[in-house]
Amino acid sequence: MKLWVLSDNNTLIDRYFLGEPAVSYYIEADGLRILFDTGYSDVFWKNAQALGLSLNGLSHIVLSHGHNDHTGGLALLAQERDLTHVQLVCHPRCLLPRWYEADEIGPPESGAILSLCQYRPSAQPLFLSKNCVFLGEIPVSHSFEQRRPLGRVLLDGTQQPDLLLDDSALAIRTGEGLFIVTGCSHSGICNIVSYACAVCGDSRVAGIIGGFHLPRVNSRVEKTAEFLASLHPGPLYPCHCVSLAAKCRLMRSLDVREVGSGMCIQL
Ligand SMILES: [Zn+2]
Ligand SMILES: [Zn+2]
Repeated sequence: MKLWVLSDNNTLIDRYFLGEPAVSYYIEADGLRILFDTGYSDVFWKNAQALGLSLNGLSHIVLSHGHNDHTGGLALLAQERDLTHVQLVCHPRCLLPRWYEADEIGPPESGAILSLCQYRPSAQPLFLSKNCVFLGEIPVSHSFEQRRPLGRVLLDGTQQPDLLLDDSALAIRTGEGLFIVTGCSHSGICNIVSYACAVCGDSRVAGIIGGFHLPRVNSRVEKTAEFLASLHPGPLYPCHCVSLAAKCRLMRSLDVREVGSGMCIQL
């Protein structure tokens, strides 16, 4: 498995890529070529070009959830590349319009995009290949990670509190265990990891990259650190919506690595 960071909040010294508060990864695994999230703007595209990644011949676009810092680049990709044979995988609620206070924070208008690719919505785990699975809707299995509404989503013609049921992740089986790729982990990073292990029948975690949704140090971070440490995972790459203070707390008991645009992880 090989993963390139196309868009991240952070940039790395002497690596001249662009950053923005967003997520986009390009993943080659199990014969698949996956674009996981598309960032907020054209940054994922520019960084892919700078890395020499054409994003031609994608097998899948996987969207972690519908927020615009994960889906904003979709329209650009649809303009630049033929997506006729590309499967767009996400939760059925992912592409619904959403708002936070007065701001629109949902995906770009998706009607035209869906007609250009093969739309594969799934609330159930969906194996993209033998060893790579989109997890679908994440059940709550840790009491400290209950769902809380964030903004509003358009459901049945009315704006309703958004529980972000669409927030999901990707799990890839490797020889060393699961490598888990998250967007924002609104569903809870521990809920996601537990579900990935159950779906894949493997309790070994080789690594995790993505947002863990830990903006501050509180009891949730303590419990997250305790749970993750109990799994004895490989390197963790918490980024995007994880504060420096929360990373420092995780680092006390876990192997936490830095993330930045342009970096590559290979397992
Ligand atoms: Zn989000
Ligand atoms: Zn986000």
